[in-house]
Amino acid sequence: WAKPSARTVDSVCPYCGVGCALTYHIQPDAQGREHIARVDGRDGVANHERLCVKGRFGFDYVANPARLTVPLIRREGVAKDPEQVKLADWRAVFREATWDEALERAAGGLRNIREQHGGRALAGFGSAKGSNEEAYLFQKLVRAGLRTHNVDHCTRLCHASSVAALLEGIGSGAVSNPVMDVLQADVVLLIGANPTVNHPVAASWMKNAMARGTRFILADPRRTELARKAWMTLQFRADTDLALLNAMLHVVFDEDLLDAESVRDRCHPDEVEAVRKHVAGLSPEAMEPVCGVPAADIRAAARAFATSKGSMILWGMGISQHVHGTDNVRALIALCLLTGQIGRPGTGLHPLRGQNNVQGASDAGLIPMMFPDYVRTQADGAMDKAEHYWKLPPGQLSREPGLTVVEIIHAALEGKIRGMYIEGENPAMSDPDVHHARQALAGLEHLVVQDIFLTETAALADVVLPATAWPEKTGTVTNTDRLVQLGRQALKPPGQARADLWIIQEMGRRLGVAPVAEVDMHGGEAGVGAVFEDMRGMMPSIAGISWDRLQREGAVTYPCAEEDQPGQRVVFIDRFPTADGRAKLLPAPLSFADERPDNAYPHVLITGRELEHWHTGAMTRHASVLDALEPQATVSAHPSLLAKLGVAPGEVLRVESRRGAIQLATRADPGMPEDAVFIPFAYAEAAANLLTNAALDPWGKIAEVKYCAVRLSKA
Ligand code: SF4
Repeated sequence: WAKPSARTVDSVCPYCGVGCALTYHIQPDAQGREHIARVDGRDGVANHERLCVKGRFGFDYVANPARLTVPLIRREGVAKDPEQVKLADWRAVFREATWDEALERAAGGLRNIREQHGGRALAGFGSAKGSNEEAYLFQKLVRAGLRTHNVDHCTRLCHASSVAALLEGIGSGAVSNPVMDVLQADVVLLIGANPTVNHPVAASWMKNAMARGTRFILADPRRTELARKAWMTLQFRADTDLALLNAMLHVVFDEDLLDAESVRDRCHPDEVEAVRKHVAGLSPEAMEPVCGVPAADIRAAARAFATSKGSMILWGMGISQHVHGTDNVRALIALCLLTGQIGRPGTGLHPLRGQNNVQGASDAGLIPMMFPDYVRTQADGAMDKAEHYWKLPPGQLSREPGLTVVEIIHAALEGKIRGMYIEGENPAMSDPDVHHARQALAGLEHLVVQDIFLTETAALADVVLPATAWPEKTGTVTNTDRLVQLGRQALKPPGQARADLWIIQEMGRRLGVAPVAEVDMHGGEAGVGAVFEDMRGMMPSIAGISWDRLQREGAVTYPCAEEDQPGQRVVFIDRFPTADGRAKLLPAPLSFADERPDNAYPHVLITGRELEHWHTGAMTRHASVLDALEPQATVSAHPSLLAKLGVAPGEVLRVESRRGAIQLATRADPGMPEDAVFIPFAYAEAAANLLTNAALDPWGKIAEVKYCAVRLSKA
C-alpha cells in the first residue's frame, strides 16, 4: 500500500546505542520539497531489519517547523532568565543574523575571554548525537582553539563510572562482547537496565535468547517487562546494588565457585585475596535484610552465573548513576573474572551504551582526561605527540587537566568558567539539580549553542548556530558493540542551517585552528572522509577501518588493526590491554547514596527514560507519532503507594526534593518498589532534574541522578 519511493538512502538510527541500520524512503511533497516518507529496518549487524517505535516512527522531527533555520544573536539588553527556558516568543529575545556576523560574534566572544582570562575560563560540551568526525573536530577545537581540556559530553552522566572501572580493571572502557552474544550465553545477569524501553531491539534479542533457554537473572529495583520471561528476578531495594553484588561474590568464595584458570592467569593473587577478605562478612544471609533479596535466591543466582558454560553481564544506568557507580562496576568485573566468564562468545561485560554515538564520541576524545583512543592527556609525552600530530606550536595545549560536565557547571556558577561552546547538548535539562545548571549557564559572559532546535540551553545563549539533524549529513557513528557504521545524507538541511562539521571548522578558523579539509556546508560527503582519516591517524584501534572500506562495507567492528581483518567482536581472549595483561581487582566497599530518605523526605526518586521519548526530548517531542503516543509527563508509582497518598491513577502528584518541586499525572505500575517513584527526564514542563542530586562518584565524576530523597503529596 506504500507509495512508490522516489529514492532511498541507507543510514543508522539516531537514537540509542543499539545502532540499528535503517533505510530512509525520500519522497517529494506537492511543492517538490523532499521529506522522509517512511523508514525501514535494514539488515544491519546489530538489528537484522528490526527497528523499535523510535527508529521506525521518530523521524519527522527533522521537518518540524520549530527547527532553527537561521543564526540568532541575543538582542542588546535582553537579560538571560534561568527561570524562562521555554521562550514564548523567541523574536523578543533573539534577532536573526548572517552566518558571518554570528560566527564572528560566537568565536569573538570566546576569543576575548581566552585572551583576558586564559583557556581555563572556557569550556565546551560536544555531543554523543553527532558523528565521530564531529566529536573529533570539536574536542580538537576546544583543546587547540580554546586552549583548555575542559571538554566533555553526556557520557559523564551515563556510563562514566562504568568506563572508569573498566579502564582501571581491564584496560578498556568498551564492551567485551556484543549484545547479540546473549544468544550464545547460558546465563545472563541483566542488572540496572530496562532494555525493553531503552534498547528495544537489544531487548528483542534477549527475548529470543530466553525463548531458546538462556537463563536470565534480572536484577533491578523495578520489576520491568522482561521479568515476565526471566529465569530469576532479584528485585533488590534501590541503592543496595553493592549489598547484592558483594553477597554474590561471597558465594563464589564460600562455595568454591572460582575458575582456577582465570584466577591463575588473569588476576593478581593479592587482589583476589583482598576481595575474598572484603566479602567474607557479606554473606547472602547478612545482606538479605539490606537488599531485600532472599539469601537462597542470591546463592542460586551466583551458582548459576559461576557454573554455566557461558555467562554474560549486561548493565545500564541503574548501576552507573550512583556515587558508588564505579564500585558497582568493580564488583561486576570481579564477579566476571573470578568465575572465568570472559574472553569467549556468550560471556563478558557489556555496559549498554545510551546515545547512538556515546561510544564513538568517547573514543574520539570528547572527554577531558583523554585524547582520541583513550591516551591520557597527562601521560608522559601525550601533549607533545598531540601537538606534533595537529601541527601546533610546542606548548600550545594546556598542561592543566580538564574538568568534567558537572565540575564545569559548578565552575561556571563560581565565575571561574566565563564562556562556553555547546554543540548538540542540552545541559539545561540533562544536568542534575538543573536549576543550578540553568543559573550557571545564564551567568556566563558568553554562551554559544549549536543545535537543531531552540532548546532550553539555547534559550540562555548569546549566539545560536542552526545545525543539521542526523538524516541531513554523512558521517560515522559507533554503537554499543564497538561497531563503526556509516550514515549517509538523506535530505538537505532547512533554510540556512549548516553542517556541524562546517560550523566547527568555521569556529576553529576564527580561534586559530586550521581546518582539516574543506567540508560541504550543506552536509554532503565532501571532506568528511578526510576528517575521518585524520582521526584514524590518532586511533590505532580503528587502523584497519579506512574511509574507503566504510564506503564498501558500511559497518566494521573495532579493534581492527588491518584492512583485511574483520574486526574483533569478542575481545580479551587471552589477555587484557593492561601493562601485564592481567586484570586489576578491587574490593567494592558497601556504600550507599549521598542522600537517603528521612522523615522530611521519606520516598525515593528514580529517574530514567521511557520508550517513546529520548533523553531531554529535543528530538522525540518534536516527532509527531512519538509525541502523540506519550504527550504528557507522568510519574509511575506502585498502586499501594498511590492508595496511601490518596491519589488515583491519572490524578496529579506533587514531587518535591530539597532542590525543587514538580507536578505530574500519576501512572500506577505494580512493578515499582513501594517506597519509590519513577520519572522520565524528557519533559521540560516537569523536569525531573529539578529534583535530582548533583553529588558525584569520586572516580567517574558521574552524578547520582538515579537516586534522591523526595516527599510526595496530592497536588
Ligand atoms: Fe533506534 Fe535503538 Fe530503537 Fe534500534 S533499538 S531503532 S537504534 S532507538
